[in-house]
Amino acid sequence: MLVVMDINAKQELIDAVVETAENKGYKAMPIPGGDRVSIGILYNKGSVDKSHFLGFEGVKEVIPVTKPYKQVSREFKNENTIIKVGDIQIGGDEITIIAGPCAIESEKQAMDIALSVKEAGATLFRGGAYKPRSSPYSFQGMGIGGLKILSKVREETGLPVVSEVIDLEVFDAVEDYVDVLQIGTRNMQNFSLLKRAGKAKKPVILKRGMAATIEEWLMAAEYIMENGNPDIILCERGVRTFVNHSRNTLDISAIPVVQKESHLPIITDPSHAAGVRDQVLPLSLASVAAETDGLMIEVHNKPEEALCDGAQSLLPEQFDMLCKKVRKMKELCRE
Ligand code: PEP
Ligand code: MN
Repeated sequence: MLVVMDINAKQELIDAVVETAENKGYKAMPIPGGDRVSIGILYNKGSVDKSHFLGFEGVKEVIPVTKPYKQVSREFKNENTIIKVGDIQIGGDEITIIAGPCAIESEKQAMDIALSVKEAGATLFRGGAYKPRSSPYSFQGMGIGGLKILSKVREETGLPVVSEVIDLEVFDAVEDYVDVLQIGTRNMQNFSLLKRAGKAKKPVILKRGMAATIEEWLMAAEYIMENGNPDIILCERGVRTFVNHSRNTLDISAIPVVQKESHLPIITDPSHAAGVRDQVLPLSLASVAAETDGLMIEVHNKPEEALCDGAQSLLPEQFDMLCKKVRKMKELCRE
């Protein structure tokens, strides 16, 4: 950490910062500059609390130079983490495609969609059994009945299944039935849920909070890893901005930043970023070009009748086309 002093800071104010740092067990090294002094705080194990120094007289700015996340960082582990779900790998050389409806609505709906997305090339099936809805009057999901349908889908199609866990109350049930747990954008900083996910024996897709910085997102992943679960897949799903031409704004730049900062795989969910179907293909291709490790796409065979997120759901034939174009884009990027 670097403590930058005011231009006019007198020597005794500089000494006071140095003394406080040394009393806390750090080494403090004043670095004289052209017109001001900065003080490097060294040998700290873990991040130093900025507020220790911000309130000092004569301190202009405090600049952290080390990152607060550890186990999820590339400094901690340089090689990419590859998550295995049965025979499927997430974070390897291939793009993983996860697809399915926003919510499980019936056995027939889930099975029909699962068969079509499998045929097109999806290797995992998604579907919410517990839905975090903005309105208490909206469809809340089928609950345990939805989880049972997901199990049947896995049995019949062989596709591993992904579903969201919205709170601690339903955690055990979701963990029992699914292959991959999902923590949604609204729960990214639900620390009790993150700690529980750390005890889970299944991989976790951790969606980025809709107003979370990358650092906050990686710290959320750190919670899961610190509690014992190393199998985390980060999912960029768009952040809230001022625009109204899409539901959220897909932060494509998050992909290279996360790839650089963390060894964890990152996938993209263009459906929730877009909110409308016609943006899903271009955002998917852009994500592949930016080297995402996978895509999560909402697909519905009757989107006009969907109980949740019909407007952003692709029809099966549109999803089929998307898979073909995604594979071509991936090949292009390998060259
Ligand atoms: C979902 O995947 O259905 C979902 C609710 O996503 P998010 O948490 O990104 O809004
Ligand atoms: Mn949805």
